[in-house]
Amino acid sequence: MASTRQIDVGGVKIGGGAPVAVQTMTKTETANLAATMEQIQTVAAAGADIVRVAVPRDKDVEALRSIVRDSPIPVIADIHFNHTLALKAIDAGAHCVRINPGNIGGREKLALVVERAKQSGTPLRVGVNSGSLPAHLLELEFSNPIEALVRAAIETVELMESLRFENFKVSMKSTSVPNTIASNRELATRIDYPLHLGITEAGTKWSGSLKSAVGLGTLLADGIGDTIRISLSTFHAEEEVKVAWEILKALKLRERGPVLIACPTCGRLQFDMDSVVAEVERRLEAYEDPIEVSILGCAVNGIGEARHADFGITGAKDMGMIYSKGEPLKKVPTERLVDELFAEIDRYYASGRRVVRDEQKAAEARVWLAENEDPDAMTPERMAALEAEAAREASALDEADSPVAGRRFTRA
Ligand code: SF4
Repeated sequence: MASTRQIDVGGVKIGGGAPVAVQTMTKTETANLAATMEQIQTVAAAGADIVRVAVPRDKDVEALRSIVRDSPIPVIADIHFNHTLALKAIDAGAHCVRINPGNIGGREKLALVVERAKQSGTPLRVGVNSGSLPAHLLELEFSNPIEALVRAAIETVELMESLRFENFKVSMKSTSVPNTIASNRELATRIDYPLHLGITEAGTKWSGSLKSAVGLGTLLADGIGDTIRISLSTFHAEEEVKVAWEILKALKLRERGPVLIACPTCGRLQFDMDSVVAEVERRLEAYEDPIEVSILGCAVNGIGEARHADFGITGAKDMGMIYSKGEPLKKVPTERLVDELFAEIDRYYASGRRVVRDEQKAAEARVWLAENEDPDAMTPERMAALEAEAAREASALDEADSPVAGRRFTRA
């Protein structure tokens, strides 16, 4: 069940049907104002909705006030063990404070933080981690780690409610992808507070992105999760933001910037597609519109599955083709493919989002495509289409054979 409650973190709505918010965390020493602000500007430009900063010392909380003032996006103070820092962070104007009620020093100290949060209207993020469950759940964690996590999260929610505080979101994190999925699915059936999703210590850019895409993507596809953070072992926090956006874009939950699609390549490839894809991806970063750009490694398959793309290129050995919405625009020498692609995209925007077609060049490109397309070639795309068709037919047959087939057409 998706969360029904909503909180407001510095103007960004979390939960209750709001778009899934992208978070990241600065990797700088928070007290180093120049470095921290530079990273916040970078992650904001990359699309972070909210940024979290670690506040482990007094000098960090002192820097927080100016960070909150100067940041283009809401700031969450991340605090462990020290309720005094949490109080100071609220006083410094943090848009949200992340605490773990289990390590903040007991109920009385938690109550002080909650009281201050109530007075200032500051939301809190409360959560549990698989590595730091309360002692009374350790035995359960051994026999049933998912239930232990869920129970710890629910006890935290009950603790907050016993202090008459409901302005919070919940996070329940684990290093295990299956446990993250199972426990959040279970928690989502038991509470209606907004959920923050993340995989603890996900790993390097490569493995961490994949783990996060599987874990968070599965939950988001179920409608679970209101804000996400991708934890990657890199100093470049903007990489976390880019991965988060790719997950949200892949699930069509949010749109931001162009979508690049590229064929997987096969033995028919005749040009340096890796370099072309990298160059197109780099240049697309300058565009904000969610246009779809496709790159095909050869013309053997025609435009095929890429016909919905706003713009695309088909490469070949010496000559390639630019197309738009399934229709050829022009053929160009392979070494000019990328430049000509972007010339067409820029012309499209300069003409008020209208594709400008030179009919003579389009006709030449059609001829080129007809000469290079091979309708009989068993390309990966055509094999995939045949497999999909076979699967559809098999499931239609299964349905026809089923004893309940046709029941939905029977009048009661
Ligand atoms: S046949 Fe398909 S996968 Fe192979 S290079 Fe051509 S477009 Fe790419």
